[in-house]
Amino acid sequence: MSLIVQKFGGTSVADVEKIRAAARKAIRAQKQGHRVVMVVSAMGKNTDLLLKLAGDVSQSPPAREMDMLLSTGEQVSVALVAMAIDDLGSKAVSLTGGQIGMKTDDSFSKARIQSISTERIERLLDDGNIVVAAGFQGIDDDLNITTLGRGGSDTTAVALASVLGASACEIYTDVDGVYTTDPRLLPEARRVDVISYDEMLELASLGAGVMHNRSIEFAKKFNVPIHVRSSFSDAEGTMIVAETESKTAPVCGAAMTPNEARVTVLGVPDVPGKSLQVFSAIAEKKIAVDMVVQNVGRKGRADISFTVRQDDLKLTLAALDKVLPAIGADAVTFDDQVSKVSVVGVNMADQTNVASTMFRALADANVNIQMITTSEIKISTLVPRAEAGAALRAVHEVFRLHEKPADAKSWDQIRAERGETADLDTLVSRLQDDALEALTLTGISLTKHQARVTLYGVPDEPGIAADMFETIGQAKIFVDMIVQGYDGEDGSTSVSFTVDESDLKQSLEVAVAIREKHGMRDIQDGSDIAKITVSGIGLRSHTHVATVLFKQLADLGINIEMIGTSELQVNAVISATNSDKALERLSAAFAASLEAGR
Ligand code: ADP
Ligand code: ASP
Ligand code: MG
Repeated sequence: MSLIVQKFGGTSVADVEKIRAAARKAIRAQKQGHRVVMVVSAMGKNTDLLLKLAGDVSQSPPAREMDMLLSTGEQVSVALVAMAIDDLGSKAVSLTGGQIGMKTDDSFSKARIQSISTERIERLLDDGNIVVAAGFQGIDDDLNITTLGRGGSDTTAVALASVLGASACEIYTDVDGVYTTDPRLLPEARRVDVISYDEMLELASLGAGVMHNRSIEFAKKFNVPIHVRSSFSDAEGTMIVAETESKTAPVCGAAMTPNEARVTVLGVPDVPGKSLQVFSAIAEKKIAVDMVVQNVGRKGRADISFTVRQDDLKLTLAALDKVLPAIGADAVTFDDQVSKVSVVGVNMADQTNVASTMFRALADANVNIQMITTSEIKISTLVPRAEAGAALRAVHEVFRLHEKPADAKSWDQIRAERGETADLDTLVSRLQDDALEALTLTGISLTKHQARVTLYGVPDEPGIAADMFETIGQAKIFVDMIVQGYDGEDGSTSVSFTVDESDLKQSLEVAVAIREKHGMRDIQDGSDIAKITVSGIGLRSHTHVATVLFKQLADLGINIEMIGTSELQVNAVISATNSDKALERLSAAFAASLEAGR
């Protein structure tokens, strides 16, 4: 008998009628012959209310007590859902995170799942029950209650589907599927039939709140198909699977993180090991850092900028404050009125002009780009918060995301084309006993013969990036990584990009022309450069990846010139000298994670 996991979010259990409707959906699935496990969130906005209550009682509530409090929201819903099922004449048992044996580490409010014991669930299912499990919560080794982070019930659901070998994981929510961007922000957004794990993981991590990003790490690792659908109708929703909807569309979705903050550490001594100190201080607090831009050092000093969620700003500044004297940096500045607007698509990796198209759309909408970072499947820009809505609309429009790509395939077509064995090939068993959410790496590689061009003193006004990368595109130069960062010296920005070594001469000619046209301060180039790539799943949310990278390279005396991160890759641009050694060292340092990905 096949097993399905059905997850109901807060709005889907917000009142008595909705609880009954959820119960009926589960009963129906059971009557159709499935074993059914439900995962339920706190009712409506209950988690927000509890958070507010805590804030009213204490200015800085202890993390342990916070998780104790927040977990009660889910406990209320599971009991009510089980009662509703009973009332409708079927059998159900509600279970807390502890009771389903959801073991996590002890990082309160961001706990990672280590193991789940399925025995009790299996036994209850064997007895004909619908099992109603509390989402979002677990217990640590000391039996303390932990929570997985906001939106974490999705992760509970997909994790359970993984360990129970479910045939599907249905996510019932208040939208009827995954859209090309949040339909509440942009009514013209289109619902997609199919989206790939890689794209959904990246979108979720960049702000698409419809799925908790860590749930997609699970789905990809264990190859669990996810069906996102409305709890208020029976319509088919969106399938999140290994395949993409289109094989050609460069962009499949756009996302915005409205509440971001930029932090810049000014005047960091330009010697290996300093970035390590900066980022390990932050990683220790499990704060995810994005859009890292390090200005190529001048006068022996460099500026390091990065973004964090605005919620994490206070903690980030406090962590930096502690290490600033040891680092010998001048000061820290920040801007908490910025938003991140990103586009994602696996097909962009081998297409030109995707970045310049995005920059042109932003320029035409009069949006000033403050920072840029790119990775193989995404481009992120940091913009003033007041301009973020216009920016999102502009990029959605320019990539025609409201239209179905001509070669788009439906889930039925994709499934039919899968063939008999395709599933088995990808179904790698990664069920380790005690490290379900451990970092999984699939490879570390080196690309040599790269070159870098940096322009300093790029005027802080709309349209410059668009002009630059259009001109470079017209010269038929393929640009790999692009990084634009805040330049501490005079408030302007600097832009760096990498090209193949054979294109360096021509790239410099173009750069000189651009400098003349826009009155920029300086150009610098670096040849004999290599790109080191660490590939895997969930690289941004595992905050220690960057720290290990920085540490290993610092030990070898290697400076990181540029860095680009996505959930799937961390790319570091370094000097080619010693890059073979770097590869060796990193392979050794990440040996366990590489083994997990095999
Ligand atoms: P639940 O409580 O069911 O977990 P969430 O509020 O966490 O629901 O997620 C659903 C919401 O996600 C939608 O109401 C929608 O506004 C938002 N959302 C953000 N990005 C997207 C997207 N790309 N597609 C669909 N919904 C999105
Ligand atoms: N109730 C939790 C939250 O509101 C978890 C969840 O709904 O996924 O974040
Ligand atoms: Mg949610």
